[in-house]
Amino acid sequence: MVLNYEIKTEKVNKSRLPEVDFTNIPFGRVFTDHMLVSDYINGEWQETNIMPFQELRLSPATTVLHYGQEIFEGLKAYRDAEGNAYLFRPHENFRRFNISADRMVMPQIPKEIFMDGLRELVTLDRGWIPDTEGGSLYIRPFMIATDDYVGIRPSNNYKFIIFCCPVNAYYAEPIKVKIEQEYVRAAKGGIGEAKTGGNYAASLYAASRAQKDGYQQVLWTDAAEHKWIQESGTMNVFFVIGDKVITPNLDGGILQGVTRDSVLRLLRDNEYKIEERPISVDEVVEAYHAGELKEVFGAGTAAVIAYISAIGHLEDDMVLPPVEEWEVANWLQKTMRGIKNFTVPDKYGWMIKA
Ligand SMILES: *Cc1c(COP(=O)(O)O)cnc(C)c1O
Repeated sequence: MVLNYEIKTEKVNKSRLPEVDFTNIPFGRVFTDHMLVSDYINGEWQETNIMPFQELRLSPATTVLHYGQEIFEGLKAYRDAEGNAYLFRPHENFRRFNISADRMVMPQIPKEIFMDGLRELVTLDRGWIPDTEGGSLYIRPFMIATDDYVGIRPSNNYKFIIFCCPVNAYYAEPIKVKIEQEYVRAAKGGIGEAKTGGNYAASLYAASRAQKDGYQQVLWTDAAEHKWIQESGTMNVFFVIGDKVITPNLDGGILQGVTRDSVLRLLRDNEYKIEERPISVDEVVEAYHAGELKEVFGAGTAAVIAYISAIGHLEDDMVLPPVEEWEVANWLQKTMRGIKNFTVPDKYGWMIKA
């Protein structure tokens, strides 16, 4: 066991920062100068290294490449006027990472590696946080099974890595989603609640079919009946029906989003009527035909609040009113942005200095 979790840093000789045009960054394709790596070997976390961003060398037999034993996180850093880096609720990502690790039979990661490493890496690369409107640093911690072995069992060795991408606002335009009633993302007893690559591998087929039909995302329903709404892509979903804001309750099949939790907190503390409960496709369709479906939006780290302008159901689209009229989503968007750019007081202490 490494008792003092010292983090060793090897800096780049020459930063790539001057080559980057921050007004025009494709999402997830530009990486900062450094990354963090820590290996877990035979039951022990080894020393943690921050090093120049680089490729990995892996045996073709590496377990993760065959059986997908891996987990990940996604969170963002923002900068203040002085150029200091702040992380949005990083302890929640740390907590969820270890919950995912448990479900995927992977080792727990100590705070000293995840949190301290995250802070050090982001502080080192803080110059990469765009100062464009809605810009931020997207941070990707992940862990992979690295045994050099093609048998099926939990790996003995793992690699934990964090790297970062400067990003601009994600979905600028409202999106169209399609209610999926044929394919399934997660079933009861499955891994829907873990943030693991397999859930995404399982979703690609349905998502690509929806895209052919002109939708950006699938709106998942439950595996047993295709009746209950779950979530969409990388986001939890909210429906404004009449004067209520409704979101599916955490039933073990959907991801426990940090953004979802933040949205519920803001709504609850500002006298909105919220309901966390099962919500059926039928209820949404009926509300739509009754003129009661006012707003639908997704909540997730990448997009923060993503406006859903239309929902495809069977052969029809339910088209929502123009987003300019949306009270709840617009208020949330403004408030979340304000907290992150320090113009709205951070009452909850969500912004953590790196
Ligand atoms: C990450 C993720 C979310 C959103 O979680 P946040 O913590 O808000 O980013 C929602 N659904 C799925 C499937 C996810 O992987």
